[in-house]
This record gives sequence, C-alpha cells and structure tokens, in this order.
Amino acid sequence: MTTPVIGVLALQGDVREHLIALAAADAVARPVRRPEELAEIDALVIPGGESTTISKLAVLFGVMEPLRERLRAGMPVYGTCAGLIMLADKILDPRSGQETFGGIDMIVRRNAFGRQNESFEAAVALKGVDGDPVEGVFIRAPWVESVGAEVEVLAEHDGHIVAVRQGNALATSFHPELTGDHRVHALFVDMVRDNA
Ligand code: GLN
Repeated sequence: MTTPVIGVLALQGDVREHLIALAAADAVARPVRRPEELAEIDALVIPGGESTTISKLAVLFGVMEPLRERLRAGMPVYGTCAGLIMLADKILDPRSGQETFGGIDMIVRRNAFGRQNESFEAAVALKGVDGDPVEGVFIRAPWVESVGAEVEVLAEHDGHIVAVRQGNALATSFHPELTGDHRVHALFVDMVRDNA
C-alpha cells in the first residue's frame, strides 16, 4: 500500500494532536467532517473531547449514518476517550438522545474514573506495543464495563478495561496523542496497512 490516508473526525475535540501523531507515524492525515470526505480516506481516528457534543454534531453534519456504514464495511478506526465512547455499541449512562457510531461490542461507563480534577496519568502495558508501557493520560475518562466474545482486551488499569480491539476497530480510554509517544498511532497505522 502507498502511504495510507487517515482522517481525523473534526467535529469537536483534540483533532490537531491526532493529525500530528498520525503524520509522525507515517500516514497522510487530514481532518474530516463532511460525508463526502469520508469517501476519500482509508481509515479514521475519532478524537477525545466530549462524546455528547460529537454525537450531536455528527447528526447535524450528516455523518452519523454514512460513518456507521463505512464502519460496518470494515474501515479501520481508532477512538480515544470520547472516541472510545463513540465506538461502543452501548453506553451505560448516556445523556438523553446521545447516540454512538458503534462497531465494538462493549458497554462503556462515561466519566468512570471521576471528574475533570481527578484526571491522572499512569503507565499502561498495552498489548501490541513493545517496550516500555505507554503513558496513559486519563481525562474524565471512560472505562469499558464489559465486552462481547469478539473483543480482545488490550489493557487494564486498576482492574478496569481501558483498551480494546475488535477486528479493525481499536479504542483506548486514554490519550496517546497528548504524550509525544507515537507507538499507539503506529500500531493503528500498521492495522490500516494490514487491512489494505
Ligand atoms: N467524558 C468525556 C465524554 O463523555 C470524554 C473525555 C475525553 O475525551 N477526554 O465524552
């Protein structure tokens, strides 16, 4: 495959940091917010931010259904934090009207590790990333309450699931895009290359 083109869903959240991390991991990265733009990418990152806002804007920009369709067709996707929530088939505690794209057979709990001022960093051993553990930045982070049989658990913190993969979908409760360590993005770019 030539260099993969990876979109970053640019409705809300830390889009810029993902664009930088993807470029560092040898992908062509570009922001995506319109349905037409979805057709031009090999894979997508859904950033951290606020999942209730991303949900609302996805409907408003008309990308909710087209994106679900591409995910069902197997487009590789990586979600961090709010992005992980957006990939869950079910939210335990959704805001009223809050929808997800789905794609990973899991139930997530929003703000599970506490409020903004209880945000923290912790070393996380992540399956698929060799060497030192990654620095997990958890900001009002969700955890994964339970997973279906097709889901592989890649990492836990304090007994809670914080990273998963199902087929071409990868998700972490934490934010590798904020650390300058691009190994998790490199793992995703490898997934995208393998898929091609
Ligand atoms: N708590 C946020 C939500 O529910 C996620 C926070 C984040 O992405 N850092 O969407």
